[in-house]
Amino acid sequence: MTEEVEEVKEEEETEEEEEKIEEEKKKKKGAEKKKKKRKGLFTHYKIEGDNVKRLLPFCERCGIGYFMADHSDRYTCGHCGFTRYKPTETEE
Ligand SMILES: [Zn+2]
Repeated sequence: MTEEVEEVKEEEETEEEEEKIEEEKKKKKGAEKKKKKRKGLFTHYKIEGDNVKRLLPFCERCGIGYFMADHSDRYTCGHCGFTRYKPTETEE
């Protein structure tokens, strides 16, 4: 029986250590969150009924998943710097 008690004590100690590690991880995560402002990936999609529309084109170099930034006259890839000019609409 005494052995069992000892085992329980050991478990409690390791749990405390794990909690400390988790706390440190949380602190690190918080710092990373401040650096990384990664939000709004899904704003590039527009759901219309059952269809999901892409609002921005994918980069031709980087492939699917890399959205290009929408500028007034062109699209640019923030990943590789690829620029694709929009077809100019002739209104004149
Ligand atoms: Zn790219």
